[in-house]
Amino acid sequence: MSNKRGAVVLSLLLACATGCAGGGRPVDLAAVDSVERPAPVGVEENPAPPSTSAAPTPNCDPEASFRPPESMPQPGRMPAGSTMKAIQDSGKLIAGVDQNTFLFGFRDPTTNALEGFDIDRVREIAKAIFGDPNKVQFKVVTSAGRIDALKNNQVHIVVRTMTATCARWQQINFSAIYYTAGQRLLVDRASKVTSLDQLGGKKVCAAKGSTSIKTIAEHKADPIPVQVDNWSDCLIMLQQGQVDAMSTDDTILAGMVAQDPNVKMVGPRITREPYGIGIPKKNVDMVQFVNGVLAQSVADGAWADSYDKWLGPTGEPRPDPPTPKYRD
Ligand code: GLU
Repeated sequence: MSNKRGAVVLSLLLACATGCAGGGRPVDLAAVDSVERPAPVGVEENPAPPSTSAAPTPNCDPEASFRPPESMPQPGRMPAGSTMKAIQDSGKLIAGVDQNTFLFGFRDPTTNALEGFDIDRVREIAKAIFGDPNKVQFKVVTSAGRIDALKNNQVHIVVRTMTATCARWQQINFSAIYYTAGQRLLVDRASKVTSLDQLGGKKVCAAKGSTSIKTIAEHKADPIPVQVDNWSDCLIMLQQGQVDAMSTDDTILAGMVAQDPNVKMVGPRITREPYGIGIPKKNVDMVQFVNGVLAQSVADGAWADSYDKWLGPTGEPRPDPPTPKYRD
């Protein structure tokens, strides 16, 4: 176990040691079990579908983005009048990320720094603009808050396990795909469940505003969707027996398996979740620039190093990086 992973597990254990037992006194387990466990703030069972989901979404290829420029500008020398120049002049790239998703965007408890596969992508973009990967201001956004953060110009980019979909393309732009995940199931280690088909009438947790909650809500077996703000809230509800399963991208679930030996990921992928970097609709030049950065990161091996660092320990062999698709 790496030091980093050990630290995360340790911090969870410490939280339990201080939160579950009382100051060194022996704890009567029967009494602990009889206490009703609080649910996470903002949890909603069987939520009404968002009103926008009623509108038909035009067909598109959500994985096709804008071609990078012929030649990339040198760091610190962004072209006059470009979105990148405005970011360079402001002194920092503002990035919407997660801080609760181990392996992709999480806070290392020993250093308090944000780290993960998504955070590496942010730092590559900052390095390409400024020549310095640390000129970043991170803003934590929930799954449900990603599009508004971009539409309201609170962030320059969102790098947060975000699937490029046609519905989202109507409101924001996406970079080329930098990773392809797929939705799976996470259950208690003792559970016999291996598929959403077996979860009719049972509670299945996912984050508000995610593609995952929609997949659960629309599943033919009629599981009961339970939505929360953060992925870590789903894990807590599963650990406390308040839901029967959680279901989202295998990337996110892999981080949970790495933190908690009492849960397991089961069943095949039930969706395809191609991740893109979200960028405000008007900033097409920024999309092209970011696509140049992503292509460079694949070409120079940084993408592969980042995969090996974060996802290598999960045991999944490293896939080829997604081949970028462009619209022209
Ligand atoms: N990739 C899915 C999405 O963008 C689920 C992951 C998430 O919401 O963080 O909705």
